Amino acid sequence: MQVGILGGGQLGRMLALAGRPLGLRFRFLEPKTPAPVDDLGTVVRAAYHDPYALDRFAEGLDVVTYEFENVPVASARHLEARVPVHPTSRALEVGQDRVAEKEAFVGAGIPTAPFRGVGSVEALREAARDIGFPLVLKTRRLGYDGKGQAIVQDDGALEAAWRSLGSVDLLAEAFVPFRRELSIVAARGYDGVCAFYPVVENLHRSGILVRTTAPAPEMVPGLQDAAEIYARRLLEHFGYIGVLAVELFEVDGALLANELAPRVHNSGHWTQDGAETSQFENHLRAICGLPLGSTSVIGPTVMLNLLGAIPEPVSVLEIPGTHLHLYDKGPRAGRKVGHVNVRTRGPGDLARSVARVETLLGP
Ligand code: AMP
Repeated sequence: MQVGILGGGQLGRMLALAGRPLGLRFRFLEPKTPAPVDDLGTVVRAAYHDPYALDRFAEGLDVVTYEFENVPVASARHLEARVPVHPTSRALEVGQDRVAEKEAFVGAGIPTAPFRGVGSVEALREAARDIGFPLVLKTRRLGYDGKGQAIVQDDGALEAAWRSLGSVDLLAEAFVPFRRELSIVAARGYDGVCAFYPVVENLHRSGILVRTTAPAPEMVPGLQDAAEIYARRLLEHFGYIGVLAVELFEVDGALLANELAPRVHNSGHWTQDGAETSQFENHLRAICGLPLGSTSVIGPTVMLNLLGAIPEPVSVLEIPGTHLHLYDKGPRAGRKVGHVNVRTRGPGDLARSVARVETLLGP
């Protein structure tokens, strides 16, 4: 089968690396050059909104998916008229708009922090009266990795925060005093069968994921079930086919949904070495109409992102249990250039290896 992927970053690269053994071939639409997918298929080098490029890209494909969630929805719709696109443009559209995302949570019966969409300072003041302080302001569109966010402590700081985010449409939501951040990655196939990976614990620094621990330690009874119920509701709400991630806050032993990603997700990278079937393979199995693979854990795994620079590979690989995944991207401050999955036999060994990798990566 020929799979088309909108976007040519590391997620596209890892999808292709997982799909080649299944006999799948890949074509990417990616405006930038060079790109991490350059060696892994053919690349149509054009803007996402170019209709002629979209037609050239779609020619002969069996299915189209995304690895980048800011692809114009109109482009996904254009493609949908020619070839099956999964997840559908509707899921993409919701994933691009933080207010629509929160409304989808509410619509699907998934708890989330109180919120309001606001389009003016006056509306923001009114929302703040309902929500209270502190509150978190987020740009409604094109925000990721904690960009386009502000925490507002009181009424006097509202206007400056509104301006600092560019006076655009915003999501205002209650600040959640969470114990920790968790996420669940789930998949749904053509036949409606769903599969769930265990809930994982995520550590962010400056809004960027630095570490995922899988499965999440110290899970209180019922938390995994709740996460699976919420993920299933979203999958069914969208008639979704493929992999979806839901970012969650744990607060007082319960879960609040923060965000959804209609694609494979950084907090699922551990599955490459820690689960029987990776999130990348399961996404491809789902969108190609193949049976989903087991999401069982092979062993506790920690994923550490390589941000900005790549350490000497030998120094990583000599640490027991490490698996290195590089994205073929040049170094740049804060940029995700690769990750290390660490999986060992015992918990003591795991902690020792993780500490050694973290020492290599520095503060
Ligand atoms: P997001 O872009 O929504 O994933 O937010 C980036 C990070 O900001 C999250 O990973 C949290 O650490 C933090 N954050 C986002 N929303 C809230 C909130 N309502 N309350 C507290 N912290 C938040």
